[in-house]
Amino acid sequence: MLPPTIDDVREAYQAIRTLAKITPLIEATELGAQTGQHLFLKLESLQATGSFKIRGALNALLHFSPEEQRRGAIAASSGNHGKAVAYAARHLGIPAVIVVPEDVSPPKAQGILEAGAELHKAGRFSAERFAYAHRLVAERGLRLVHSYDDPHVIAGQGTIGLEILEQLPDVSTVLVPMSGGGLISGIALAIKSLAPRVRVVGVEPQGANRFQRSLAAGRRVALERAETVADGLRVLEPGELTFALVSRYVDEVVTVTDEEILEAVRKLLRYARVLAEPSGAASVAAALFGKVREEGKVVAVISGGNIDPQLLRSIL
Ligand SMILES: *Cc1c(COP(=O)(O)O)cnc(C)c1O
Repeated sequence: MLPPTIDDVREAYQAIRTLAKITPLIEATELGAQTGQHLFLKLESLQATGSFKIRGALNALLHFSPEEQRRGAIAASSGNHGKAVAYAARHLGIPAVIVVPEDVSPPKAQGILEAGAELHKAGRFSAERFAYAHRLVAERGLRLVHSYDDPHVIAGQGTIGLEILEQLPDVSTVLVPMSGGGLISGIALAIKSLAPRVRVVGVEPQGANRFQRSLAAGRRVALERAETVADGLRVLEPGELTFALVSRYVDEVVTVTDEEILEAVRKLLRYARVLAEPSGAASVAAALFGKVREEGKVVAVISGGNIDPQLLRSIL
């Protein structure tokens, strides 16, 4: 597996436009006043399907051969990636199977079914879902779309980096939530290729700091468990491609606590009228709680807005 290049990101930028929007980048004046920073928000919460994952999913499906398109795609994810693959597949007329945990929440399962995908329930842990998905790959010739360790997925997520540079050419620092690292790998590849002076900083939950530990060890380290309210940031181990790209291009990785993440969700609503899911607010938590010192313009990527209504009620 070769890592993507900036040309792959450029190509994806055009290719995904039939479905993935150029999302707004807004100045968060009131929120920035609280942190003493010049703060901007890149609103992937307003992206089609409510998260950035549609960019990578669609770009990956566009690289299927005609035969692979006929046989179909499979993804193992109950969250934003599963929804994105389901929508992108329907958009391209490709059959899709999404493998979710047995205890998937009804609204999530419904979202995937509404997109016309075939829903399979398997086990409770990610390893069980991947084993199940690989069986279907072997039996039915489906092609797996990995949520982060795939060059086309990374190139698709990288289009956010191109948009940020166009929308705010004098940006100083970009803050990006991290889980498997596909989002930040793509963004950092794009930004460091075109504007190497811009700092790219990753944000992990304190209870799921797989990149911070792996970077310190100089090799990929798997956590035993991930404990965080941010349900999109629970991957245990960096990917192969994403660890290589993060090692090369990311300036720093910082951590935030669950309390800081939840306070960021609250403050985004109150001071910026922005609804973010906890995973999507981790970047703002880093800005609000002094994890990054920066005089210039800071962009926090709000990676998604699919918050569980019950959690939202309890946060408020
Ligand atoms: C998937 C996801 C992330 C993490 O993306 P990675 O590519 O796995 O690092 C962050 N925020 C949201 C909302 C997500 O859905």
